[in-house]
Amino acid sequence: MMRDHRVRILSNAPETLTYWRLRVRLSETIAIRPGQFVMARTREQWEPIWRRALVIYRAEEHAEGMDLEFLYKVLGRGTALLSRQRPGDELEMLGPLGNGFPHDADPDAEALLISGGIGLPALYLLAEALARDGRAVRLFHGEPTVEPERPLPFLDDFARVLEPEAITLATEDGSRGFPGLVTEAVEAYLERTRPGRAVLYACGPTPMLRRVAEIAAQRRLPAYVSLEARMACGFGVCLGCAVKTQFASEHMPHYRRVCAEGPIFRAEEVIWDEL
Ligand SMILES: Cc1cc2nc3c(=O)[nH]c(=O)nc-3n(C[C@H](O)[C@H](O)[C@H](O)COP(=O)(O)OP(=O)(O)OC[C@H]3O[C@@H](n4cnc5c(N)ncnc54)[C@H](O)[C@@H]3O)c2cc1C
Repeated sequence: MMRDHRVRILSNAPETLTYWRLRVRLSETIAIRPGQFVMARTREQWEPIWRRALVIYRAEEHAEGMDLEFLYKVLGRGTALLSRQRPGDELEMLGPLGNGFPHDADPDAEALLISGGIGLPALYLLAEALARDGRAVRLFHGEPTVEPERPLPFLDDFARVLEPEAITLATEDGSRGFPGLVTEAVEAYLERTRPGRAVLYACGPTPMLRRVAEIAAQRRLPAYVSLEARMACGFGVCLGCAVKTQFASEHMPHYRRVCAEGPIFRAEEVIWDEL
């Protein structure tokens, strides 16, 4: 259930040139669905006023409660402030928020997890849950470039729950792995294997998600996309993150709040031209 948690930072350090890993401790355990997020802020924070959304990357229960991990990219004021927090400092985290991925969408289908850049952390708990259920899972992760001699430690996290050969790294400049867009790697895989049943789960930049939706529609495969929208409250009150969808409901004709009804939507629900 959503609550404001005061958490203590265990570690907060850059993992690569782009990504930071934050580990925090909660004094209790909470139920988390893969793809759910928190709205985080430092204590005593007045500027920026609004909290920042971070998806829960990993979660580990232990005798003292639960440790949560986040991966983030320093973009602007909020994430820069977060990167200055030290072990022992406290954060306030409202969560868990959002709907989460439906991991039992088609229990017999192969699960294809597709991420671009900082979309990756949304998929770890899903990979872990699917692998625990004995499902066939593959991860396709895309980056613009990767320095050949620098490892991507977060891919090692996935390699602990998935078969290493089930992980494909795609780089746009061909510096490592599949040369090209991650969606091209997915298409090449689908063309080669033609799986009868597969479910696509994706998180990343909007053009990538849009392409995933097209691939799914062409091949009549179900696809779930985790949308990113700028949000202020994170729990459905401010309506700042509403997106237009194909389907109307009694309360919100055509509009859905990314924070409350999302962030995960069926790909065919989304009106991509209006994002
Ligand atoms: C549900 C959800 C989960 C998220 N999980 C993560 C995560 O795990 N790790 C992570 O690094 N980021 C995540 N994000 C994005 C993160 O919340 C933003 O990057 C962050 O709010 C930027 O804050 P800032 O103050 O550093 O940047 P700002 O100063 O607010 O903005 C800096 C730049 O980033 C752009 N920007 C800011 N927020 C967003 C956004 N939400 N989407 C697209 N562009 C944005 C702005 O347009 C601007 O160009 C998530 C977003 C959502 C909606």
